[in-house]
Amino acid sequence: MIARRSALLLAAGAALLSVPRHVFAQAATPPGGPFTLAPLPYALDANEAAIDARTMELHHRFHHGAQVANLNAAVANHPQVAAMPLDQILMKLPEMPEAVRTAIRNNGGGHANHTMFWAIMGGKGGDPTGDLAAAIARDFGDLPAFRTQFDRASTTLFGSGWAFVTVTREGKLAIVQKPNQDNPLMDGTHVLMGNDVWEHAYYLRYQNRRAEYVRNWWQVLDWDKIGARYAAARAGTLTI
Ligand code: MN
Repeated sequence: MIARRSALLLAAGAALLSVPRHVFAQAATPPGGPFTLAPLPYALDANEAAIDARTMELHHRFHHGAQVANLNAAVANHPQVAAMPLDQILMKLPEMPEAVRTAIRNNGGGHANHTMFWAIMGGKGGDPTGDLAAAIARDFGDLPAFRTQFDRASTTLFGSGWAFVTVTREGKLAIVQKPNQDNPLMDGTHVLMGNDVWEHAYYLRYQNRRAEYVRNWWQVLDWDKIGARYAAARAGTLTI
């Protein structure tokens, strides 16, 4: 009987080990909690020109997924926070309950940052157009100067963090660096676009060569999406 039970357990274990990976694809966000990990809006290899599919998978499912789970855990005993939209939470960070403020900062910032990051990629690069192109020319001189300044912000950021382009209601653009998972909403400024320069964003393909990742990243931007974020900022409807 014992031998039979062991055989059954072994069989069960073997069955678990042989479960195909895709079975777990929807399991990144545990049930419960107001925040969810949205599926990527494109295939894992959609950004192959800059980011390999395995990095996309690990980054989205596990890094971002863990932040969503940790954010839900942080607000679990704070229903008044759990009921707030994420942009309001980040803008009112000093008002958050002290016991969970750091968890909200790291995981709420991370959830906002990564949600924006997935949304602005999946494109073919190229150049911005329309009002956004005009704003870049006005605020940075021209597109190459803008890219040079943004690349510098991405490559000189020490340790883990993000380079962002912020946008005011008037449409004024600026480049800022943020450490860890901080988000410019914590300063009351909206994000137009941003690049994740944590090592987990590029290490499998690029190892220590952050500058090469940063240079290639422009090839997968979706300028239509970024242009829509610019219009939303002007209209006062941009959230995270
Ligand atoms: Mn990341």
